[in-house]
Amino acid sequence: MTAVGTPAQPLRVAIIGSGPAAFYAVEQLFKSTAVIAEVDMFDRLPAPHGLVRYGVAPDHPKIKTVTRAYDAVAAHSRFRFFGNVDFGRHLTLSDLSRHYHQVVFATGAQTDRHMGIPGEDLAGSHAATEFVAWYNGHPDYRECRFDLSVKRAAVVGVGNVAIDVARILMRTPEELVKTDIAAYALEALRNSRVEEVYLLGRRGPAQAAFTNPEVKEIGEMPGADVVVRPDEVQLDPLSQAQLDAAGDRTLTRKIEILQGYAVRQPEGKPKRLHVRFLVSPVELLGDSSGRVTRMRLVRNRLVASGSGAISAEPAGEFEELEVGLVFRSVGYRGVPVPGVPFDERRGVIPNDKGRVIDPESNRPVAGLYVAGWIKRGPSGVIGTNKPDSTETVASMMADVQQGSYFHPPEPDAGALETLVVTRQPLAVTYADWRRLDALECSNGEACGRPRLKFTSIEEMLAALGRAANT
Ligand code: NAP
Repeated sequence: MTAVGTPAQPLRVAIIGSGPAAFYAVEQLFKSTAVIAEVDMFDRLPAPHGLVRYGVAPDHPKIKTVTRAYDAVAAHSRFRFFGNVDFGRHLTLSDLSRHYHQVVFATGAQTDRHMGIPGEDLAGSHAATEFVAWYNGHPDYRECRFDLSVKRAAVVGVGNVAIDVARILMRTPEELVKTDIAAYALEALRNSRVEEVYLLGRRGPAQAAFTNPEVKEIGEMPGADVVVRPDEVQLDPLSQAQLDAAGDRTLTRKIEILQGYAVRQPEGKPKRLHVRFLVSPVELLGDSSGRVTRMRLVRNRLVASGSGAISAEPAGEFEELEVGLVFRSVGYRGVPVPGVPFDERRGVIPNDKGRVIDPESNRPVAGLYVAGWIKRGPSGVIGTNKPDSTETVASMMADVQQGSYFHPPEPDAGALETLVVTRQPLAVTYADWRRLDALECSNGEACGRPRLKFTSIEEMLAALGRAANT
């Protein structure tokens, strides 16, 4: 039998998903000198790059330049991209096990967590992740509607997603036009009447998840003043003691920036971003038509648990905020993948160093791996996925040495391609994507923007000269 991972029989790997974790896994697979790998990457959308395209805020273009490194990986002769191919619909796990030795799921965290409070489903209350996907032109979200005719909005949570949403609501049209924000979102935000946004943290400034560059950035917006209450950024004794013990300079700086905002005089800019701490929404209240009009908040105090973690508990004092739009930004959540174990509680695929674990036997499932948010949960920045994927690939390489993988009857690149084309004649290649990418940039240039995104699969296929009904 031919050894797997040799020129005669390369290790055949399928990767589901095409975000950062997927690309870092491919990069790592091609770095291996011991094993020759052929990698096929699948995405249900024609455009690759996952959250770099559909999650990173449009006013953060520098972060998106990471895709150049992914393009370099994709140029490898043993790499293929099959876009517009939906795992579970066009291809099943049983198909993949006939064609590949190993399969990696890098499907991210495609839904959001809920607050679990009454009124959460009122009209005007949305997941921040939907708004993010909408303004980034994700085909599944382009039809979403957000009522930007209201004056006040609240964003629940103080992570980087929450701050992205608040910032996009506060940006001026002149700022937004310089970004690759979807054209329909630019138009809607141009007409937005939102003047005040409340960013709501349930704990204190020392526990806020957003990072320093983002906190600094909100203080530099030309169209919005940032407003912070001095009493809410005074450290409580518990947080102060933890900060003193940790000597964390980055966190100290974050608190200093926030305390600096608290003593700033508003400059009378057209909009205001209020950053609040120690408050939790307990209920959303609506009008007779079922639209959210108010949010009831409880003030919190901080308490230490036995493990030393600081959590919030209600202090018994309530207040109401008049808001017509609410975005919950309390974390993303993974969704199950057909045929693969899933940990409902954590919203991840159970795994050990990237090896999928069968919860019944508590043993690895040969041939199945995970990388990125579906592996560890929705945490960290893009770069965090590099060591994460490296760990998964190390497990994959060790398993190849042990002979632990699928033994596919058709480990042939041509046979797989024939199958894909039969199931999805409208599959697109990486070369197709590069054409779309170039077209988006030239279409943008024509109207003074960095990029004009295609926001539907039909538009993308039409631009490639492929009719959606062939
Ligand atoms: P996150 O960083 O985990 O923040 C979630 C926020 O929701 C926290 O403030 C959390 O507060 C709060 N929260 C959770 N449950 C809540 C509840 N029931 N009521 C009120 N608040 C609640 O998540 P994220 O903002 O979705 O970001 C996901 C990851 O992507 C993060 O690692 C983030 O850094 C990264 N990201 C990075 C960038 C960037 O680099 N610019 C941009 C976007 C996202 P507690 O701490 O009290 O739980």
